[in-house]
Amino acid sequence: MYTVRLWSVRHARGLRRVYVFFSRLAPRLAPLVRWLGRRRAEAMLRPVERATKGFMFDCRSCGQCVLSATGMACPMNCPKRMRNGPCGGVRADGTCEVDAAMRCVWVEATEGTKHIDPDHRTRPTPLLAAIDARNAGRSTWMRVIEGHPETPFQPPVSERRTPESRLGPFETACRAGKFVVTVELAPPDSADPRALLDRAARFDGLVDAINVTDGAGGNCHMSSVAASALLVAHGYPAVYQITCRDRNRIAIQGDILGAAALGVQNILCLTGDDVSQGDHPQARPVFDLDAVSLLHIARGMCDQGEYASGRKLEVPPDLFIGATANPFVPPYADRVANLEKKIVAGARFIQTQFCFDLDMMEDFMREVRQRGLHRRAKLIVGVGTLGSAKALAWMAAHVPGVHVPRSLLERIAGASDQRLEGQRACVEMIRALARIEGVAGVHVMGHRNEDVLAQVIADVRG
Ligand code: SF4
Repeated sequence: MYTVRLWSVRHARGLRRVYVFFSRLAPRLAPLVRWLGRRRAEAMLRPVERATKGFMFDCRSCGQCVLSATGMACPMNCPKRMRNGPCGGVRADGTCEVDAAMRCVWVEATEGTKHIDPDHRTRPTPLLAAIDARNAGRSTWMRVIEGHPETPFQPPVSERRTPESRLGPFETACRAGKFVVTVELAPPDSADPRALLDRAARFDGLVDAINVTDGAGGNCHMSSVAASALLVAHGYPAVYQITCRDRNRIAIQGDILGAAALGVQNILCLTGDDVSQGDHPQARPVFDLDAVSLLHIARGMCDQGEYASGRKLEVPPDLFIGATANPFVPPYADRVANLEKKIVAGARFIQTQFCFDLDMMEDFMREVRQRGLHRRAKLIVGVGTLGSAKALAWMAAHVPGVHVPRSLLERIAGASDQRLEGQRACVEMIRALARIEGVAGVHVMGHRNEDVLAQVIADVRG
């Protein structure tokens, strides 16, 4: 089956032609469908479609076929059901973060799209709508025959300008062109907020916002919406991180409204790490949305004042909406296109995975500037340091999406004080990033390493 799937991707151009030919001819079968009756016709067509597409594409019968927009690679084979591009955890060899035995569906999709349209990277790719669970198992061919294939594409939401006086301090700093610094905190494993507030206090006066992770690594902690609201109540601008792993669109939209009502002004939309690496691997992952569809929904709530269902909100939230990017993992060729898609969907700031490789970042930024994306969203680059070369090597091997060049590992391993050398390398990286046109700031990360991170920021600022 896998070999046939790869064959289909390699022959995506020819298969797409067949599809276009079929979709033009198919409406001629409409009288036959009417004669048979829709229900009976679909019952006859469905097994044929399932068998054919199952054999050719390993199709999962979602009932909203998007193969012609995904290089003939079925995105429903992705364990996170990503319909709008790869997650940030693709392994360096192009295999899936969740299942190392399988090639990432989006590495395949990128290859197939290249066969269909060699110039595809120069154009923004369409936003695919979040999956409609009601269509599972239904025939998409039937809709093609009926002459109205349901369009799976979402138009971008037109933007509403928030008056300057209502902007939060983080957005104000970004808009003013300041080189911003954000830091990441994991909420505590505690019902007492003191631990969180003590850790946040170490960054007093040093950062423009504090990101609050949402079950990072698939591990359970205090909820990110509660931790964000606590920070806001104590005067810290928080970035509330929302993942699609644990909640469906109903719960997420409720949380977005709740966060806004509690004073949170910034959100970061992520797909989220898989549960398999966390402390509850037996949990069922949700992935009702992916990061792009979440961005689109959040933008619709803010700018159109409505839920994803179209129902109107009484008072819409007013949020500075962000997304993530990872320039350091495959499919490298499509990472900027994926970033563009997130910006089209509604992201106005971007925070990247750890940058330990300046050359890769410079290549990425070159293309970002060519497309003018640095003018449409603020690019904030992830940086960090760990206590030793061993810890850094462990992170590169075990944390999805982290790439550490050998030269950095050797530099730190060879130092007499590895912790200090790591800090020095981090400060050098931040200074080098600040010189790259289009980099709007840095996002400092490091699990439970607040003192060192605060020192790094103080060194850079001083
Ligand atoms: S690496 Fe990510 S995007 Fe690719 S198939 Fe796995 S979960 Fe999906």
